[in-house]
Amino acid sequence: YVAKERNRGVAVYDASEDAHDPGRLALLTELRRAIDQRELVLHYQPKISLPTGEVSGVEALVRWEHPRRGMVPPDRFIPLAEHTGLIGPLTRYVLDVALRQARRWLDEGHPLPIAVNLAARNLADPDLCDDVLRLLDEHGVPANLLCLELTESAITTEPEHALHLMTRLRAAGISLAVDDFGTGYTSLAQLKNLPITELKIDRTFVGTMTVERSNGLIVRAIVDLARNLGLTTVAEGVEDADTFTALASNGCAVAQGYHMSRPLPADAFDRWYAETRAVYGVA
Ligand code: C2E
Ligand code: MG
Ligand code: MG
Ligand code: MG
Repeated sequence: YVAKERNRGVAVYDASEDAHDPGRLALLTELRRAIDQRELVLHYQPKISLPTGEVSGVEALVRWEHPRRGMVPPDRFIPLAEHTGLIGPLTRYVLDVALRQARRWLDEGHPLPIAVNLAARNLADPDLCDDVLRLLDEHGVPANLLCLELTESAITTEPEHALHLMTRLRAAGISLAVDDFGTGYTSLAQLKNLPITELKIDRTFVGTMTVERSNGLIVRAIVDLARNLGLTTVAEGVEDADTFTALASNGCAVAQGYHMSRPLPADAFDRWYAETRAVYGVA
């Protein structure tokens, strides 16, 4: 596993797909410890309203600050957590940190809606909804400030569990987003029946929408679909000003991407947010 690590020149070996690899056990043990030691940290990426430019909320994205391996991105350990049952504790940990941060912003006078990602495996977790409501209560965060993001593929893999959980969460006032929309196989009939509030257009379409005509048309079609269903559209992966402008003229409600800001640690986000509010004159 060491050799593979060297060959690939990456920070950590991705053993999540290989159940027989001894490295998997080591990583798993480390991940379990990482949750206890609070080595998992959240970065926050702003979501920007179009066309005003106001910050409409943030997405919390987990990272592993590994003492030796360095910063490990979520794609390298979320799948492992999903395959081993660690995803339950991990998701609760992320929710706890995110809601503590949401409370901090509330106390500073900024009721910023915060989005947390759920994994496919979380959908079948019978205690998740109660635990989310308990955490909201413990942190004193109103349910309408929390958005939970479920990927389109997670919803289609676990359709019954997804509908049941989403119905309960939505009834409690939590916002629900379909993440990476356009990459899965949700039928329009399914989409119409899901208690969702938001569609997040996958960045594979958004990233090239101004240079590849077909992707521009897809983005436009999703924006129109979402509007007709009464949903907020969020475009992910906005990397330049042209894309930002094109989205605004297509009627997309919200944009997220490196062009506005990368995901930032809480202190850096606060500095970015203070400057942005000054620019737009929003106290
Ligand atoms: P996602 O939920 O679709 O999050 C958006 C991803 O796109 C993030 O990657 C973000 O850093 C990246 N991104 C944002 N703007 C741009 C841009 O302009 N260009 C490009 N190329 N990328 C951009 P990240 O943070 O590496 O997360 C990857 C995925 O890992 C997430 O995709 C989500 O599915 C999952 N993930 C992240 N945090 C959590 C978590 O706390 N729990 C769970 N279950 N999954 C998580
Ligand atoms: Mg997401
Ligand atoms: Mg996404
Ligand atoms: Mg994704």
